[in-house]
Amino acid sequence: MKNEKIFLCSICNINSGTCNEDCKFCSQSVRYKADIERYKHKDIDLILQEAATARDGGALGFCLVTADKGLNDKTLEFVCNVAKKVTQEVPELRLIACNGTATLEQLLTLKEAGIKAYNHNLETSKEFYPHICTTHSWDERYATCQNVNEAGLVLISGGIFGLGETQEDRVSMLEALNTLKPTSVPINFYHHNEALELEPNNLSIDEAFSLITLTREMIPDAQRIMVAGGRELMFGKRQNEIFSYGANSIVIGNYLTTSGRVMSKDLEMLKALDLEVATSVS
Ligand code: SF4
Repeated sequence: MKNEKIFLCSICNINSGTCNEDCKFCSQSVRYKADIERYKHKDIDLILQEAATARDGGALGFCLVTADKGLNDKTLEFVCNVAKKVTQEVPELRLIACNGTATLEQLLTLKEAGIKAYNHNLETSKEFYPHICTTHSWDERYATCQNVNEAGLVLISGGIFGLGETQEDRVSMLEALNTLKPTSVPINFYHHNEALELEPNNLSIDEAFSLITLTREMIPDAQRIMVAGGRELMFGKRQNEIFSYGANSIVIGNYLTTSGRVMSKDLEMLKALDLEVATSVS
């Protein structure tokens, strides 16, 4: 493992479930009518409270997520305002934005507002992408990641396994990710929601472990391989093993539309493994 300290990240869904796109794995799309909480703008006091809880739980990264295809003027203004307030009130956190497709100019505006990193996943291979989304292209996703690099923000980009893709697709996605030189690579394991038309994730636990290792091997310069959504469901009682397969970052607390386990359980797990929590990044 490159970095033995474990980077903890917490996700804050500041706008939820209002996206018009048709990504088949995503319960935030309005098309599938999944039974999730939907709201336009989360109240700032609640966001600040979640930020303080994340910091107290050991998180270093705090990711401001909006559910939409990409940034527009209103969303950009909202994210910037939130970023400024969180920076003021909870300065220990390193702010990440995850707001979909973004232009270079929009990313520079986020940077000025205090955002340090931008998360935009390729999700899957270019070849498989039309099977999981028809309303926007994989190329647009790739272009946003290039914009992130050009803006001088830290690029966080990964994908999701268990959508029905082949091993060839997984390799193709990892090869593409490697060309973007992401600092952190979040890998998600599809967590099925019955409102979605995709079949449940049929990866075995051993296949999932080997995908962590494959990600580490194929993106050797990434500082962090993060196991993000689906961790609890995919690995269950064996989630403490993900670090020996190459992960050095996890999401703590809740995910976007599914619950994670309580933060203290993850801290106990790391303590039992004698793994330190990262308190700074280079
Ligand atoms: S663009 Fe993002 S929020 Fe919208 S449906 Fe796709 S994954 Fe979900």
